[in-house]
Amino acid sequence: MEELNPFKIAQEQLDEAASMMGLDPQAHKILREPMQIVTVNILVKMDSGKTEVFTGFRVIYNNARGPGKGGIRFHPQETLDTVKALSAWMTWKCALADIPMGGAKGGVICDPKKLSEGELERLSRGYIRAVGRFIGPGIDVPAPDVYTTPQIMAWMMDEYDKIVGKHEPAVITGKPLEIGGSQGRFNSTAMGAMYVLREAAKKIGLDLKKARVAIQGFGNAGMFAFDLVTKMFNSKVIAVSDSNGGIYSEDGIDLDGLKTAKINAGRVDAYKKGSRITNEQLLNLDVDILIPAALENQINGNNAGDIKAKIVLELANGPVTPEADKILLKKGVLDLPDFLTNSGGVIVSYFEWVQNNYGYYWPENEVYSKLDKTITQSFTDIMRVQSEYASKGKDITPRNAAYIVAVERVAKAMKSRGWY
Ligand code: GLU
Repeated sequence: MEELNPFKIAQEQLDEAASMMGLDPQAHKILREPMQIVTVNILVKMDSGKTEVFTGFRVIYNNARGPGKGGIRFHPQETLDTVKALSAWMTWKCALADIPMGGAKGGVICDPKKLSEGELERLSRGYIRAVGRFIGPGIDVPAPDVYTTPQIMAWMMDEYDKIVGKHEPAVITGKPLEIGGSQGRFNSTAMGAMYVLREAAKKIGLDLKKARVAIQGFGNAGMFAFDLVTKMFNSKVIAVSDSNGGIYSEDGIDLDGLKTAKINAGRVDAYKKGSRITNEQLLNLDVDILIPAALENQINGNNAGDIKAKIVLELANGPVTPEADKILLKKGVLDLPDFLTNSGGVIVSYFEWVQNNYGYYWPENEVYSKLDKTITQSFTDIMRVQSEYASKGKDITPRNAAYIVAVERVAKAMKSRGWY
């Protein structure tokens, strides 16, 4: 049986890169575990008048390059191991993008779909009261992730301001514009992925105007990816799914119609045209570009052999397992790793933090052009390392190459600090 514990996977990915690059064993040991784990129980007065207890986590994986950075997930299946894995991936993500931040992540075990607006606000504020001592602009800077929104960031910032008794917008990113959010942050994850896709298509000679696309997941990232891939490149999205199932239409799916179906019925497969498909079927479709934009482990040892896409654009965190990595490499599929592809979110979060620290704000085009420059550089760095290894006769995945770039930067910072 393939190992599907996300933290074990994160460690396995690191181990693989460490042996390829000949990482110092002391640095390797430090980098296999998080620096700090905080677990809290949050008491929330529910609308019924009864108190409910929610467990939350905040993990700083590594802060050698700067304060912790990473989102907070509200999810019923959240576990400490998932948060630990995601905090490790944030470390590599920030290092690969070469932004001066470390990696962190948070999570609360809850089902936000079952909470009222008031309960959600009390839970968000309660989380900050519980972890408030462990975060701050120079300590650890949270942001949105699965099922958390700019509104939730606003409540969290407000609660933090009350605790410290002053305005501290740089404590959290992904805020609404009117309280210090950055232009372009709302769709920056998908926008970054588009810049990566543009470079990848150039590399393999794929004409994006003729490309057919399947997207798994219709949250913030998946929805904007749909919008941008059609607007920027004229590609055709022929399949989309959410946690309930998917829809397939060879003529292309209409985004507005799909959004209406999702809003009215709460699921994309309520979209009238086309045929219904399962999430599994979506992954195996004969498309040019497959965008996993949902959760972890979707492409694994069981189904990677059936992937027909030329490019897998990992918009979710951890959607491809190590076993699947090897299969995709053998098949010649260009699989662009999560911590490159979805780094647009944290890159613009970093820009937001910079703008908050300066109290001076940039227009949207400036944000996008800085994002393009940063993420295109990451893509180039990965391709350079991959071809360096290839010239030595070693076939490594883009993920291996991304790890090598990122781990080297973190190890260097730890060395300068005298950690080993
Ligand atoms: N949650 C996003 C991620 O996984 C953004 C993190 C951030 O902006 O700090 O990259």
